[in-house]
Amino acid sequence: MKKILITRKLIKDSEDKAAKTFNSLFNTNDELYSQSKVVKMSQGCDGILTSLTDKMDKETIKKLPDTIKIISNFAVGFGNIDLNAAKEKGIAVTNTPDVLSDATAEIGILLILGACRRASEGIQSAKEGGWKWSADYLIGKQLTGTRLGILGMGRIGQKIAKIAKSLGMLIHYHNRSKLSEDKENGATYHNNIKSLFSASDVLSICCPATKETENMINKETVEYFPKGAVITNVARGDIIDDEALIDALNRRKIYAAGLDVYKNEPNLNPGYLKIKSAFILPHLGSATKDTRIAMANLAIDNIDEFFNTGNCVNKVN
Ligand code: NAP
Repeated sequence: MKKILITRKLIKDSEDKAAKTFNSLFNTNDELYSQSKVVKMSQGCDGILTSLTDKMDKETIKKLPDTIKIISNFAVGFGNIDLNAAKEKGIAVTNTPDVLSDATAEIGILLILGACRRASEGIQSAKEGGWKWSADYLIGKQLTGTRLGILGMGRIGQKIAKIAKSLGMLIHYHNRSKLSEDKENGATYHNNIKSLFSASDVLSICCPATKETENMINKETVEYFPKGAVITNVARGDIIDDEALIDALNRRKIYAAGLDVYKNEPNLNPGYLKIKSAFILPHLGSATKDTRIAMANLAIDNIDEFFNTGNCVNKVN
């Protein structure tokens, strides 16, 4: 039986599955392991089931024992793992695509609705009491007829597009490659971000965090948007230069932001907390019971497949 370090506590059903499949080292207190603790705990193990809170950078990967052959990430994103360093050390890295797309798209839509319809201010007023209805009280932006730009029209982006379309939004998108017509489903392709941002009354960021996408929303690109646009991010915090977005929100160039993910989580830039029009969530994208079980089960199956076949369909390096 292969020995696997599981760095974070999983939902019980998944831990039961892991216990049947491997000699599993569980993190019963769900302690946030330091990088050196991951290295120490993985001695004698064949693989590690990591979460996005584990920073598997070059230095950490170099120090892993040679027995480690796979890092199975409990997420579709893998910006927390240095893929090249893993490859150099002969370690396969896998992720959990598809099973979390519906849940994450739901949060993507919540961000759009919450930011456009001033949900943060509304919730606060409702809790404080004493609010008075009037014809112009907390009026927000209606989605019907509004252009939604999707940066990264992949699995999650396409699901957001489908729901947004049913709400009457007009879909625009940018990927490095244009999609086939059936995947586009009537959306308008832009072959560069300047063109997409200029056509976005609302933006939904759905692309991975990579060297190319890091700080794609910055001081310069924020000016491409129409005045009063809304920016939402369900992907990764690294894609936004926070100071540039906060400044644009403060001067009302950008009307509102809807954010689920941040640089340096959970310590988000305090500037967001002072902005009434920021609708912020604590990285809830895939947080439903069914989805978290499906993700963990897939992360376990990925390890099993890798050791049984020498490969894995969800290998990303
Ligand atoms: P996906 O299917 O791989 O889609 C990513 C899309 O981004 C693709 O259409 C890709 O198209 C595009 N893209 C990649 N690099 C780009 C670039 N440099 N410029 C423009 N577009 C680019 O991934 P997914 O499953 O939809 O997941 C997307 C991301 O969501 C993940 O990477 C993860 O970080 C994030 N996520 C967040 C949560 C959460 O809890 N909030 C949950 C799940 C996922 P091209 O290759 O043609 O460019």
